[in-house]
Amino acid sequence: MEEIKIQRAAKLKEKPDPKTLGFGKIFSDHMFLLDYHAGQGWHDPRIVPYGPFMLDPSAMVFHYAQEVFEGLKAYRAPDGSVQLFRPADNARRMADSCDRLCIPPVPEELFVEAVKALVKVDADWVPNEPGTSLYIRPFVIATDASLGVHASHSYLFCIITGPVGAYYAEGINPVKIYVENDDVRAVKGGTGYTKCGGNYAASIRAGERAEEQGYAQVLWLDGVHRKYIEEVGSMNVMFKVDGKIITPALTGSVLPGITRRSCLELLRDWGYAVEERLITAEELFDAAESGKLEEAWGTGTAAVISPIGEMGWKDKHVVVNGGEIGSLTQKLYDTLTGIQWGVEPDPYGWTV
Ligand code: PMP
Repeated sequence: MEEIKIQRAAKLKEKPDPKTLGFGKIFSDHMFLLDYHAGQGWHDPRIVPYGPFMLDPSAMVFHYAQEVFEGLKAYRAPDGSVQLFRPADNARRMADSCDRLCIPPVPEELFVEAVKALVKVDADWVPNEPGTSLYIRPFVIATDASLGVHASHSYLFCIITGPVGAYYAEGINPVKIYVENDDVRAVKGGTGYTKCGGNYAASIRAGERAEEQGYAQVLWLDGVHRKYIEEVGSMNVMFKVDGKIITPALTGSVLPGITRRSCLELLRDWGYAVEERLITAEELFDAAESGKLEEAWGTGTAAVISPIGEMGWKDKHVVVNGGEIGSLTQKLYDTLTGIQWGVEPDPYGWTV
């Protein structure tokens, strides 16, 4: 592996007040870059001062969205050390995303080394207020100056980071969600299992409509039958029904979340029956109306665990667990965040 060159910023930025951090607006002093050119492969890994880059207006990413990204965090442990959560899983998922988008995959080992090197250079940016972390955003863009619809021959892999606050200032709070009947986020055979920008572009309209109606997130249905539940907002979703855990199977249009995987491992270890399968909205609302739906929650890096308190679908409206946080939802949140922030031991070896 080529050595990562480091060019430090001459002037460091002022760090924000860690008590007022939001999400994704403040960026650290440095970024990681790696180039790809056909014939040369991925080359020239470097850390440079954070800043804009120049791209030709015809760069393919602007027109055909040949792009993939990832999202993970660095956490400050009580002893002051900094740790990552399952970064190799993000490297693997990005390679899978690249494969779908015809982008030459960034070697997984290089991805993890790059994340570690960048976080080390900007370690002072990892905040230490409770619930805060350093968000890490790796992404690859197609840079060929060409309007032909084909795979680009040149790419840029970049990683930026920035301190982020606790997703919910007062700890976790149940949210209201709404089943989207018209727009779909992804279809089987499409790109739903990848983290490509296009999936998110397609999701914005339904998200805005849900917000206008007073809901926090959209519950997505599958794009073919419009009846199977897939995800909630940009999180995976799980339900506790009659003591069992059910979650949508990874059918190709669902993103294989790393928080999802971690929850399923924990739940199986705790002795729960876990079913990864197709779940219709009808089944879910029937379970809610007959009192069998005990808990519902979303899982993702940003919020970790997000309890669902109310759900709307057409003319139906149900409240889950009296609108309160369920005990299993809370246990998952406490266990995962305990491991991520190094407050609890990590018997799984997830932290790096
Ligand atoms: N689904 C979508 C569409 C997402 O964007 C995310 C966030 N990456 C997730 C699920 C959750 O994935 P993870 O647990 O790896 O953050």
